[in-house]
Amino acid sequence: MWRIKHLIFSIIFIAFLGIGCIQQSILQITDVKQLEITSPTDEVSRGGSSLCSDIESYLPDTNHLDHRPMRYLRVNVHFMNSSDSTKNYNGARGRKYARELIDEATKNLEQNRKMSLPTGNSTPVYPVRYRYVLSSSQGYEQDSAVYFHYDDDLFSFVSRGKNRNNYSRDVIRTYGVGLDSIINLFIMPHHPDSILSETYDVTSAGIALGSGVKLSGIFETRKSARSFKGLVNHEIGHVLGLRHTWNTNDGCDDTPKNPNCWNTTDDPPCDTMASNNLMDYNAHQHAWSPCQIGMINRAMSRESGRVRKMLVEKWCSLDPEQNILIEDSIVWNGSRDLNGNLTIGPTGSLIIHCRVSMPPESEINVLPGAKLVLRDARLHNACGKEWKGINIHSRGKLAATVLYEGSSILENVPSAESVLPSDVE
Ligand SMILES: [Zn+2]
Repeated sequence: MWRIKHLIFSIIFIAFLGIGCIQQSILQITDVKQLEITSPTDEVSRGGSSLCSDIESYLPDTNHLDHRPMRYLRVNVHFMNSSDSTKNYNGARGRKYARELIDEATKNLEQNRKMSLPTGNSTPVYPVRYRYVLSSSQGYEQDSAVYFHYDDDLFSFVSRGKNRNNYSRDVIRTYGVGLDSIINLFIMPHHPDSILSETYDVTSAGIALGSGVKLSGIFETRKSARSFKGLVNHEIGHVLGLRHTWNTNDGCDDTPKNPNCWNTTDDPPCDTMASNNLMDYNAHQHAWSPCQIGMINRAMSRESGRVRKMLVEKWCSLDPEQNILIEDSIVWNGSRDLNGNLTIGPTGSLIIHCRVSMPPESEINVLPGAKLVLRDARLHNACGKEWKGINIHSRGKLAATVLYEGSSILENVPSAESVLPSDVE
């Protein structure tokens, strides 16, 4: 009797298993040669190399901001002072002022504004995707990234006359910390002799020289840090590769030349031609045009570029909080650096052009029904660490599609020990 009962139970169990079990498998790809090449019927033609260099390729996707993770720029602050320490902020007050200066400038990064020029424009407003981090260099970790220097020869800023030194890099060379990887902001008072002259304008001024920025008029005017947020963002804009818009060809079509009005007035031309762009001299300096945002992002994505060296290397570690899930049809142009794993869901389709850095230990999962196409794509880790490659999932007859073409390549992926078919319920 027991045997019959056991037999019946076993048959029911096997029948249940037969209905409930769908074979799933995962194929790990570590080399594009394991993939099929796209066929001529596979939609659109290749985009060509300009997709990797066009400014438009570096605009944020406002529906999927996570597809271009936030960038973080290292900055530090130096207060230049006379030996009697009377010409600039000191100690705790200085450190507080430095933090306020960065926090206030960041507020403008967090809230990009509509361009005021050209009049009646419909230029879209894209989010600015970088922030500042007060940062010490290697070996200086204990520092607050705010420094005080007392030097009667180098403390001051002179923008006119025979002692003019605004283009001199002496102070940057002497006191710069981590100039290869940190934007160094030098707060320099105007020279006391200049201030005595009735014709010398003691206003805020700045100049960017490589990764060093000299800012003046901050202590002498006794204005709050808030008053200088535009100046800080303008000068760092230069460090990031932006040029003035009012009188030069800055490489952008959406930043028209203009009379460089400080503010809107009742009289022409400043009644209608006042700019609020970051890279003009005006009271606001709070609008980044799409082209300027694309230009900065492109510079930050260029592997061998100077600007990229100023970034915190988020691409050197995996942050699962920043995993990306693709659920619709997406095309990635322009290079990018991801911080998390990438999954293409059952309804998703992703075409990748150009360079994509995958974080260490990360993987790309292409789920059953999803599609991934590599078009002259280079998938790697920008830190030179290993990541795990592409997993092609299938369930029963439903498979994922992964194709490649052109010079696509997977780098920094160790070769798979074995292909891993599995039988999972
Ligand atoms: Zn400038």
